[in-house]
Amino acid sequence: MEIIDGKKIQEEMIVELQETVKQLKTIPKLVIIQVGNYGPSNKYVAQKIKVGTSIGIDVEHINFEEEIEEEIILKKIDELNNDKNVHGVMVQLPLPKHLDEDKIVNKVSSNKDVDGLTTTNIGNLFDGKNAFIPCTALGVMELFKRYNIDLKGKNAVILGRSKLVGKPLIACLLNENATVTICHSKTENLSDITKNADILIVAIGKKYFVKQDMVKDDAVVIDVGINVEDGKIYGDVDFEDVKEKTSYITPVPNGVGRMTVISLMNNVIKAYKEQSKYW
Ligand code: NAP
Repeated sequence: MEIIDGKKIQEEMIVELQETVKQLKTIPKLVIIQVGNYGPSNKYVAQKIKVGTSIGIDVEHINFEEEIEEEIILKKIDELNNDKNVHGVMVQLPLPKHLDEDKIVNKVSSNKDVDGLTTTNIGNLFDGKNAFIPCTALGVMELFKRYNIDLKGKNAVILGRSKLVGKPLIACLLNENATVTICHSKTENLSDITKNADILIVAIGKKYFVKQDMVKDDAVVIDVGINVEDGKIYGDVDFEDVKEKTSYITPVPNGVGRMTVISLMNNVIKAYKEQSKYW
C-alpha cells in the first residue's frame, strides 16, 4: 500500500509553475469574482490568492456586495473577457439566491474559463477536444499521472455525480481509456459495484462512508470528500479501515484537497499560453 502524498505533489507543482511563469513574456492574470461574504468562500479565495501569488500570477479579487444586481456582474465579466491582460476569470460559488448562477458562469468566455464550468467547456471535454478541466477533477488526474497509475482498461467507479467533480471525471477517465461507472444516491446495490472497482473515486460528502467491505483488493482509492466536524477534516473514506486493502490511497487532509487550487493555477497558465497565440 502506498499513500498518495498530495502535499508533496502540490509543493513540486508550485516550484514547476514558478519556473514556467518566469519564462513567460508577461505576468499571467487571474480575476476571481466573489459576491457577498460567505465564510467558506472567503477561505477558498484567500487560498487562491496565496498560492497564485506565490507562483507569480497576478490574482485580482473583485468582491461585490451581497445585494449586487446581476447586470453589473455580467457587464464586469464582459469587460474582463475583452481585457487582453486578463487570462483567467472565475466566479466563486455559491452565489446568493437572487443571482442566476448558470447565466453568470456561462458569461465567462470559454477561453478564460479556468474553472472549466461553462457549458462550452463541458461540451468540449466530453467531445474529447481541448478544454479546461474543472480543478478538482484535474487534480485527481494529476495524481494518477504523477504516481504512474495506468487507467487503461481499468474498471473505474466514481461515487457522486456533481458538476464540479463526478461528472467531469467521467470524461477524464474515459479519455484515458478506463471503463467508467458513476454512482449516486439512487444507485442500488452500491457495494456490489464498488467491490469491482480497480479505481474507486469517492466524492459524496459523507464522513467515512466507504469501509473495507466496499473495496476490492489492491484497488486505488481516491477520497475527494471534505467533511468538517469540530474543526477537524474527515474524508468520505474510512482511511484506517480501508488502507491495507488498497494499492494506493489518498489521505484526508493532504490528499486531493491539496490539488484543487494548484490545478486552477495550471489552468491559468494554460489559458495564458493559448491566448498568447492570438495576441
Ligand atoms: P455534491 O454536490 O455535494 O453532491 C454529492 C453527490 O454525492 C451527489 O451526486 C449525490 O447523489 C451523491 N451521494 C450522496 N449520498 C450518496 C450515497 N449514500 N451513495 C452514493 N452517492 C451519494 O458533491 P461535490 O460538490 O462533488 O462534493 C462531494 C464531496 O467532495 C464533499 O465532501 C466536498 O466537500 C468535497 N469536495 C472536495 C474538493 C476538494 O478540493 N478536495 C472539491 C470539491 C468537493 P445525488 O446526485 O443522487 O444527490
